[in-house]
Amino acid sequence: MINIYVNKRLLAQLSLFCLPFLASPVVAQTYNDPVIKAKADRIHEKALTLDTHGDLPNYMISRPNFDISVVNDPYKTGSRIDLPRMKQGGVDAIFVSVYLGQGPRDEAGYADAKKRALAQFDLVHGIAKKHPDLVGIATTPEEAYALEKQGKRAFFIAVENGWAIGKDLSLLQHYYDLGARYMTLSHTRNNDICDSSTDPAGYEHGGLSEFGKQVVEEMNRIGMIVDVSHISDAAFYDCLKYSKAPIVATHSSARALYDHPRNLSDQMIKDLAAKGGVVQMNMLSSYLVARNPERAAAMEALRAKYPNQDQLTDAQKAARAKEMEELNQKYPENFADLQLVMDHIDHIVKLVGVDHVGIGPDLDGGGGVKDMYDVSEMGNITYELVKRGYSEEDIYKIWSGNFFRVMKEAQKVAQSLK
Ligand SMILES: [Zn+2]
Repeated sequence: MINIYVNKRLLAQLSLFCLPFLASPVVAQTYNDPVIKAKADRIHEKALTLDTHGDLPNYMISRPNFDISVVNDPYKTGSRIDLPRMKQGGVDAIFVSVYLGQGPRDEAGYADAKKRALAQFDLVHGIAKKHPDLVGIATTPEEAYALEKQGKRAFFIAVENGWAIGKDLSLLQHYYDLGARYMTLSHTRNNDICDSSTDPAGYEHGGLSEFGKQVVEEMNRIGMIVDVSHISDAAFYDCLKYSKAPIVATHSSARALYDHPRNLSDQMIKDLAAKGGVVQMNMLSSYLVARNPERAAAMEALRAKYPNQDQLTDAQKAARAKEMEELNQKYPENFADLQLVMDHIDHIVKLVGVDHVGIGPDLDGGGGVKDMYDVSEMGNITYELVKRGYSEEDIYKIWSGNFFRVMKEAQKVAQSLK
């Protein structure tokens, strides 16, 4: 029965990319009430719309033929970000992330991490060089506003996973000079800086390591913002304690609505807000809705059957794809929608006010929900904010005012430490 409700393009993509699909027919959100839409469109156009976390460089690095200057079909290619779709979605700026999955913590591993991080910086700067009429690199709110005035998109740069610096503090300044304005201290595994919230091996440092404390100090000194998404609760509290500047969660949600270690508890949100920080809403289904346990078990069995995907023969690949398709039919993934994300925003606003929340959907990194599937649908966020009664001023704050406040504060702190 489910099939008749799932659109064909989505199904085609599911078989190709094994992404989650709708567990049940969802009543369509139309986003076309003319009164709300007119108001939302005007505000959306006027706002500087900032998405604080997208994994575009990592998506592109493995696809040398990807053309960011044309519209890519997300259902065929999996791509959630390109320049024409940013324009279509009225998105002015994105923090694109120099992202590294955790690798070995030895000299060879650090050298590899540095090399791969630098390649991603090159890639981002290369986009701006290749398409100077469409996009520029921004390192300050003012630069983003200037690009917006010229009708161009802005890419801010971030580093995701402090493994990118290995044990070399001087790389922070180097990455800052290349444009990085925040660094997510870890990814899904512990590293030399701190514990991750999701390392199956458990905690290693009990928060920030001694090296991690030096990293936070150096980030404060140079004006790079500390991003606590992915890190353990104890590491979060160490960052709050040791950072002289406000800290941010660039792509995390509220644990009160969905209990996942990647999300922040109410107390954490209150403590982060009390120090001037912001939480930027993630839109990755696994952090928003319960996983289907039967699906998880079936996936595990499939992974065990085909452990090394790189080494499969064409026949094995076809067989695996067919089994994956059957699995999707039999055990559909629970897929979040934009309404649910908006509930997280409402929750945080009720908890700490409108000054501590923003938007960080994690596109190209697994993020994207129904009605906010790719960057072209960002206007639906403003529509929903208007519908839920947020004022124009509130909406500007959520889109970028709050995050820019933290960026400016980080610069002030850096100045005061010189
Ligand atoms: Zn992430």
